[in-house]
Order: sequence, then C-alpha cells, then structure tokens
Amino acid sequence: VPPAQPGYLAGLNDRQRDAVLALDGPVLVLAGAGTGKTRVLTTRLAHILASGLAWPSQILAVTFTNKAANEMKERIAHLLGRPVEGWWLGTFHALAARILRAQAELVGLKPNFTIVGTDDQLRLVKQLIEAEGLDSQRWPSRVVLGIIERWKDRGLTPDKVSRAEMAEVASGRILDLYHAYQQRLLTLNACDFGDLLLHNLTIFQKAPDQLARYQSQFRYILVDEYQDTNVAQYLWLRALAQQHKNICCVGDDDQSVYGWRGAEVENILKFEKDFPGATIIRLEQNYRSTPHILAAASGLIAHNEGRLGKTLWTDVNEGEKVRVLGAWDGAEEARQIGDEVETLQRRGTELKDIAILVRAGFQTREFEERFITLGISYRVIGGPRFYERQEIRDALAYLRLIHQPDDGLAFERIVNLPRRGIGDTTLKQLNELARAQSVSVPEVARQVVTTDELKPAARRALGSFMNDVARWRGLAQTLHHAELTQIVLDESGYTAMWQADKSIEAPGRLENLKELVRALEDFDSLEGFLEHVSLVMENAESGPRDQLSIMTLHGAKGLEFDVVFLPGWEEGLFPHPRSLDENGIKGLEEERRLAYVGLTRARRLAIICHAGSRRIHNQWQNALPSRFLAELPAAHIERQDHQGFRPPQGGALAGGLDWPARSYGSGFGGGGSYPQRRMAPTIDLEAVPVRKSGGVYPGGMRVFHQKFGYGKVLTAEGDKLEIAFDKAGVKKVMAGFVVPADQ
Ligand code: ATP
Ligand code: MG
Repeated sequence: VPPAQPGYLAGLNDRQRDAVLALDGPVLVLAGAGTGKTRVLTTRLAHILASGLAWPSQILAVTFTNKAANEMKERIAHLLGRPVEGWWLGTFHALAARILRAQAELVGLKPNFTIVGTDDQLRLVKQLIEAEGLDSQRWPSRVVLGIIERWKDRGLTPDKVSRAEMAEVASGRILDLYHAYQQRLLTLNACDFGDLLLHNLTIFQKAPDQLARYQSQFRYILVDEYQDTNVAQYLWLRALAQQHKNICCVGDDDQSVYGWRGAEVENILKFEKDFPGATIIRLEQNYRSTPHILAAASGLIAHNEGRLGKTLWTDVNEGEKVRVLGAWDGAEEARQIGDEVETLQRRGTELKDIAILVRAGFQTREFEERFITLGISYRVIGGPRFYERQEIRDALAYLRLIHQPDDGLAFERIVNLPRRGIGDTTLKQLNELARAQSVSVPEVARQVVTTDELKPAARRALGSFMNDVARWRGLAQTLHHAELTQIVLDESGYTAMWQADKSIEAPGRLENLKELVRALEDFDSLEGFLEHVSLVMENAESGPRDQLSIMTLHGAKGLEFDVVFLPGWEEGLFPHPRSLDENGIKGLEEERRLAYVGLTRARRLAIICHAGSRRIHNQWQNALPSRFLAELPAAHIERQDHQGFRPPQGGALAGGLDWPARSYGSGFGGGGSYPQRRMAPTIDLEAVPVRKSGGVYPGGMRVFHQKFGYGKVLTAEGDKLEIAFDKAGVKKVMAGFVVPADQ
C-alpha cells in the first residue's frame, strides 16, 4: 500500500499531480515545452505500478525514440527503487512489432519475419515496376514507394485506397504496384516499417478475439509526443484503448514537426471526439527555461496561425537574454561557437550540458572540424559524423583512387557506383587475379582491360571507367582540387545519381557533397585534405563521457541542455527552402515550430547565430538573416556582433535588407594561386591501342605489350592472342594492345 503522499508526487505542482492521479478514463495533457509533460507521464507510470493498480505487463507506454524509452525505464526504476521487467515500453514500431511477432500468422507471415529497410524496399519496388513493363523513368521507384508509405501512414491497406486517393496520385497503376508490393513482401516473409502498424490494424479487424485480449490486457496506455502521431498510429491507440479507456496522451501542437512524414495535429482534436468526456489538462508553468528564453520562444511561435493557444510562465531566475551573434561566414560562426564553448567550460559548464542544434545535416562539418582543432570532444547524435556519411565516403573514395592508384578499397567502393555494369562477378574475378599476382585490385583492373579475361561488356565498362580515372588523375595536375572534385562528381554520374533519387535523404546528401567541395577549398592540396580527413576520423574514435552534442533540431525534440547554440539562422537555410517550396505556408509554420523546439531546449542560455555570407557552389553569397530573427521580441534579445560584422542598416534585427556585402573573390583564386602538386607519373591507360585492327601475329613472334612487357606469341585466334610474357607469364590479350617487338 503506497503512503498517502509518495515521494514521487511531492515534486509536482497541482496540475501535474492532477494529471498523474486522473487514472480513470481518457486524459489529454496539452501543454507547452518544458511544462513537465514527460515528467507527468513517467510519474504516472511509476504511480500505477507503485499503487498496484496494474502489473507492468498491463501498461502500454509509447515514447518517440528508443533513447527516450531507455531514459524512462531508468527514471522509473529510480523512482520505484527497483528494476521493472516485462513491460510494454517503447516506440510505436517496437511495440507493434512485438504484437505482430505474436500474431504473424493472421496476416500471412511467420513469426520470424524480417523487417526490411529502405534499400530493400526500393529494390522490390523497382523489380515490380519492371515486371509491370512500366517505364522506370516515368515511374521512379522512390516516388512510388513514397506514395505507398504515405498511404500506410494513413492506415490504408491496398483494398482501402479509395478512388479519390487514386485520383490524387494520378494513376491507378500505383495501386496495382502497392498490391503487388504487399504480396511480394509476404512471399519473402518480410514487412516494412509502415506494415508493423498496418498489419496490427488488420489483425485487430480480422481477429476481434485477439484484439479483445490486448484491449483487456492494457489497462493503462500512455503516449508521449502525441502531436507527432500519424493516422495509423492513432487508429492503433484508439483500438487498444477501447475497453479500459484509460489512455493518457501528452503533447504540444506547437512542437509538431513531422507533418512531412504523415503526422497529423488533427489527432489532438480527434481525441476529444473519439473519447468523449476526456479530461483535458493544461500545464502552464515551465520548469526548464529562463523567462527570456521562454518569452523569445513564445513571441516567435505567436506568428503561427491556427494554434490551440496556451500560456506559459516560469519562476526560474531571470538569467541572460537570448543572444544573437552575427558572423562573416560559416567558418567564423564555427570559430565563435568554439570560443563560446571554451569560455563556458572555463566557467564550469560541462560539455554534456551543451548542444548545437542544426537545421541541415551538412552544417555539422564546420563545427566538427573546429572542435577537433580545439580539442573539444563532441558527438553527432542521430547520424554519422560528416566524413562518415555514405555520400562523403563515396566521394572520398573517388579522390583516394585518383590520388593513390592502388587504393583497392576505394576502387571497390566506387567502381560500380553509380551503376556502370561492373557486377559482383567481375569484382570477384579481379580480386582473384589480384591475389594470384600479389598486386592491387586497381592494378589488375588496369591490366585486364587489355586482355580477354573479362566478358566483353564488363571489359568495356571497366575500361571506360579506368580511362575516366586516368583522365581525372591527369586533370589533378592542373586543376585546383576543389574544382577537380566537382568535375569528378559530375562526370562520374555520382551527382546525377542523387539528383535522380527521390528519397527524403537525397537532397541532404547533395548538400553534403557541396559542403565537401567547399571544405576542399580550405586546403592547399588534395593530399593535405585526405590526410586531414584520416586524422579527423581517427580522432573520432575514442570519446570520453563528457561530450558536447551536435544534432538536428528534429532529433532534439523532448531533450534539454543548459546551453543551446542555434547556428545558421539565415534565409535559404532556416526556414529551409525545400519546406517552403513543397508546403507553402504550412511548410513555413512547421519550420517556425522547429525554431520553437530549438529555443525551448535551452535551460539557461540560448545563442542564435547567423552568417553574413555563405560559400555555396564556390560563390560567396550574401545571406539574409532568417525572418525568424525579426520575429523574436526585441526586449529578450541581445545582439553581439563579432569582429568586422556590421548589422544591417536601420537597427532592426533583420529588417535592413541591404546587407553589407564584403567582396570575396569567387571561384578558384584566379588560377595558379594554389600550390600545385606534381602527381607521380600515371599509368598510361589513356594511350589508345597501338594497332587498330589487330594484325596477324604468327606463333613464335616477339611482341611488346604496354602492361606486360615483352613476350612471345603462342597462339592467335582472330583478335585474341595467347602470349607467354617474359615476366607476367601466359596471358590472353587483345591483338590491338601489342606491337611487334624489335628485339
Ligand atoms: P517538452 O515539450 O520539451 O517535451 P515536457 O513538457 O515534456 O517538455 P519535461 O521534459 O517533462 O517537459 O520537463 C522539463 C524540465 O522541467 C525537466 O527537467 C523536469 O525535470 C522539470 N520539471 C518538470 N516538472 C517539474 C516540477 N514540478 N518541479 C521541478 N521541476 C520540474
Ligand atoms: Mg517531453
């Protein structure tokens, strides 16, 4: 029997305690950032367990990330003073997967089904598009998959997609593909992430007895970050809550930032309709941030329309105003933040209490490099560090192969990326040959394009690739390495590959590639740059516990830090143009909510930064301060411009559009100003075959081959010669690559 006022309740305010104790019936806690919604949820869970109202297995608790689930587990174990086993606490995906494993047969799966990721999904869709005889140009698999996924977000199985839905996507063929895709997944005993919930919904419909079992099992349901649930997730919750109706959702409409992934704020409104008589609780006291931070954030979000509206106050000590720093460019922004971090450290702030929240992934690079220079340890949360990202590693592989002709790993990574018809069989052959001759794989590749060891198609493809590499290597002697990189990425088809890619990640990858080219400009040579990268990567390995966090604004939802840096508040970056293009005013409002999420992560200090110019595509571009800066209430802001930075005329933060431009040279430094590097002589693949027609070589004739040197013809069969080379042994080569030897 719990004591009358258990310890865990003591720390709550009245409204919060109401929310914890309102155990009977549906409860919706609708409240702004930092008002203790997550704390209420955690305490409620602890309270249910401590008062013996339910076993752990009878509580279903949904968090937004696995990280949040783990934190909640720890906090509850701490509150109760004992570990809790066997409960249902996790993300929608994790929980739905658990149910699906138990009920797999009902939807035609086996319990050991696999959950496929994006790569596999795309491959499947592509196969189906081809099987249907559709033109893959007109039917890009990314687009088709995107449409299917949005349907799944909305709880629509193929048979539920209506005419109206189809009209929306302009073609019934996609519905056929959807049918076929689902069928194909079943034959593979697989499902995708969207299916986890969708199959659950099907099970609930098909097997009311099973649904009833879950309904009676889950006496209490708790949901965090409710504003970001999509329709399928909502239907799932509603189904499971039907019997006991003890469902408690907490959320903040101002922090809904996943509209682009199908989340619907309307779910908040639906809640009141679907659960009549629900208790609605509003929390107004913010425990996280100082008044200045809160006022700045509230002033900003007030520019959104159609909000449910709420008041927020705090009795935290006044603290500092939100600081806005202007920098000349991205590099100076990183220097400033680095300096600020060092100052904070000297004054006793630990790195783990500091975060940098960026809008776009490419922004992390400049900070990472600055921190490595300063010896500030950091981690990039929710994604790889800049130089570890897939597209950056690919681009680096091209550069490594150009710089180091025998870099076999680099070669294997990109020889067929983008696809150029050099398949696994060819690679396997190359590897075997390389092992047999104890030379590098690229070396073998250079050899076999002149022999007939490969099938003609593979040989042609490889030959053309090796020619390109040799040509780029030649260019490296005269071009600046940043320009070279741009050319390599374009000519190799690598840029085009991502441009054609319709996935959510593709535009970010293209931005990262641009950022890579930009980074190269800061180095004297390609060699120097590659050296730098390997050092950066090495540094990344071991990390102490006290690390500063770098992450995206999306990834920061629900978290809090003493000090938060918000860089890149510039038009063209934040609000992000893509979001404005695609969703107009809705997109802008979602960006503003993201800014609100960013500011409200800060406990005692928020520092917003913006640069006066950014180098984009080798061109210095004047960057206008983000419109969000102008929307911050002036009384809570303090401007601090660093060396040489002049704010726009007119005093307003972002009002003066005639931004003082500093003239930077554009392009690559007027030619010749960069030290040029001599490359080692390259292998002469560009040399054209010596004899066009491949003349007749009688057996026994001495010949010379560009790669294998001198040898004696053993047999000749049309264009193909078998030659015993003095050094390289017996090989089959094309006649066009040998000349009669004069020795
Ligand atoms: P967000 O909208 O950002 O997810 P939230 O509403 O979930 O925020 P919490 O993270 O639960 O807010 O709480 C914010 C901070 O305030 C936490 O550090 C929490 O421990 C603290 N807090 C919440 N309620 C109280 C309280 N009654 N007394 C003291 N501190 C509190
Ligand atoms: Mg929270």
